[in-house]
Amino acid sequence: MVYPETFTGFMADGADSWPPKFIKREFTPKPFEDYDVDVEIEACGICGSDIHTLTGGWGPKNWPLCCGHEIVGKAVRVGPKVTLIKKGSRVGIGAQIYSCLDCKQCKNDNETYCRHQIDTYGAIWPNTGIVSQGGYASHIRGHEHWVFPIPEAIPTAEAAPMLCAGLTSFSPLIRNGAGPGKKVGIVGLGGIGHFGALFSHALGAETWVISRSHSKEADARKLGAHGFIATEDKDWNEPHRMTFDLIVNTANSSEGFDLGKYLSLLDVHGKWVSVGLPEGEGQEVKSHMFMENGCFIGASHLGSRKETLAMLKLAADHGIKPMVETVDISETGLASAVSRLRKNDVKYRFTLTGFNKVF
Ligand SMILES: [Zn+2]
Ligand SMILES: [Zn+2]
Repeated sequence: MVYPETFTGFMADGADSWPPKFIKREFTPKPFEDYDVDVEIEACGICGSDIHTLTGGWGPKNWPLCCGHEIVGKAVRVGPKVTLIKKGSRVGIGAQIYSCLDCKQCKNDNETYCRHQIDTYGAIWPNTGIVSQGGYASHIRGHEHWVFPIPEAIPTAEAAPMLCAGLTSFSPLIRNGAGPGKKVGIVGLGGIGHFGALFSHALGAETWVISRSHSKEADARKLGAHGFIATEDKDWNEPHRMTFDLIVNTANSSEGFDLGKYLSLLDVHGKWVSVGLPEGEGQEVKSHMFMENGCFIGASHLGSRKETLAMLKLAADHGIKPMVETVDISETGLASAVSRLRKNDVKYRFTLTGFNKVF
């Protein structure tokens, strides 16, 4: 057992081959500090971010890297100043592992927008030069503020993908008033979008899924969507013009995307919030696209600790069931799962399990 001096993970050395080669090796975590929690990992979701990182689509990274930021496991060590997490409890860590907790943003539950925020993997810990490493690993170490107790009602493999994909859809929904009497659109039914449909429905909003084809219509309705729009249909936007209060765009590609048509769905001052970060050039935005309804466009990044806890409570209280396929973590299991995810060949999220067999 190499823990606690080093952790072991499946690491990639660069973005020059596909599928990536995952090599099992030891790495040194940041030094343990008073507010830190060590988590022995039991499950980790595979996020679209992992794919964009491993393909090189998001640009150069601090290789070698252990991806994975939808982590659930057991808190096996807590620092002397930790008050939020009990040793031995089941906890989760998402896509953010640190922020200053002192700036205006941090003090207003906007720590996800802190200028000093640190990504769970691929960032550099201040004053150490150590690269943060994610959840395709035996352990992770993080500040208690980014470690979340997981309610008993949520199974581990289902809780994991909530911590990035779930939260990414939940935060813009609650920040923009999704609830009874509101009509909410979720663009794209992938990992994030499927959580968007589940949460929007659970929050009481009239929920519509907007997808390219009708192929996912039955799934969308299973997830709680009241309606479904396929953009392959002629004049698909016409019956819904100026009826939506909020649209959360989770699309992972902007190819062939007619933004003007989507914005025409919004009621006066309705909001279009993007949460995906497609690779490539993106689309053209002209002010006349907003004139007809005075709509707003923006984006949303993850969510706060407060929102994470609220999301987990909502999921537990409503018995929310995401669609998750589990895969045992290994060199080959990882290579096959990331290849399938890149082709959108999953309904709708992979969670890696079987950590005790390899670590
Ligand atoms: Zn993610
Ligand atoms: Zn801050």
